[in-house]
Amino acid sequence: MKKILIGIDWGGTFIKLGIFNFKGSLLGRYRLSSPEFSQPSRFFKYLRKRLEDIFKKKGLSLSKVKGVGIGAPGVINTKEGFIYYLPNIKGWENFPFKAIFEKEFALPLALDNDANLFALAELKQGEIKGVKNAVLFTLGTGLGSGLVLEGKVFRAKTSSFEAGHFPMDFKGRKCGCGSRGCIETFLGSNYIVKKANRILRKKISSPKELYQLALENNRQALEIWRDFGYKLGVFSAGLINLLNLELIVLSGGIAEASTFFMRSLKEAIEERTMPPFLRGVKVKKSKLRDTAGILGAYEFIKERLSRGSFR
Ligand SMILES: [Zn+2]
Repeated sequence: MKKILIGIDWGGTFIKLGIFNFKGSLLGRYRLSSPEFSQPSRFFKYLRKRLEDIFKKKGLSLSKVKGVGIGAPGVINTKEGFIYYLPNIKGWENFPFKAIFEKEFALPLALDNDANLFALAELKQGEIKGVKNAVLFTLGTGLGSGLVLEGKVFRAKTSSFEAGHFPMDFKGRKCGCGSRGCIETFLGSNYIVKKANRILRKKISSPKELYQLALENNRQALEIWRDFGYKLGVFSAGLINLLNLELIVLSGGIAEASTFFMRSLKEAIEERTMPPFLRGVKVKKSKLRDTAGILGAYEFIKERLSRGSFR
């Protein structure tokens, strides 16, 4: 029996889990959902139970697992595997995740910010392959971001590139991170839904419904998406000026609506970027879609294990 690695993409509502062999073939993928994600002690019990069930059903042995990679939606110290906090999931403040996970499961764990791992997946197997400087956005509950600089995923002290928490408004609305007026408070899904409910006559509860309305040619819905693209474009122009980016990659659930905001996004980039920086800049939608998170987590644990200097 071949050795196995597990890649986990930990989101606000679901945990996506992929089982890979060492060659990178996906042997199975699962979507787990639990109200217990915000309680660390129950989280580990739940994860163990689900892993046991999944492996039993597949006729695989958990003893073949050589390591686990996890992307979590927040500010992480990758080296220590320490969670400072997850802006949209309470209960994990200052949590030594790697230490507890490794004790609980007796397996090596590599933990990083989820958007960093999306960027790693794109760098290894997707749109960022061969590109030196790029930003990836995960458009969903929050505005996650990963940075590839000089051909590598950028990881500094906290390992996170939190472009979503760049303050755009000196006063502004309160943000999940504790600050105010962050770009996320203009582009996160909660904000879009609230805005839509102010403007539309109909109550909606998710960006998906707003996407549906745009498909039906609802003018107000189309205008909300146009404005979304414009704001993301202006912000992207700032990042391009700052970092000499060649590429912006859009991923996450809301990227599926890009038909309705790609044009205003590109127009805003053209209008607001300093001309010498604009040459050759591209905006692309991720093709890895749902697998990016688990794939990035797999690539990350594989990289860490092969480096040998695991701890
Ligand atoms: Zn913020």
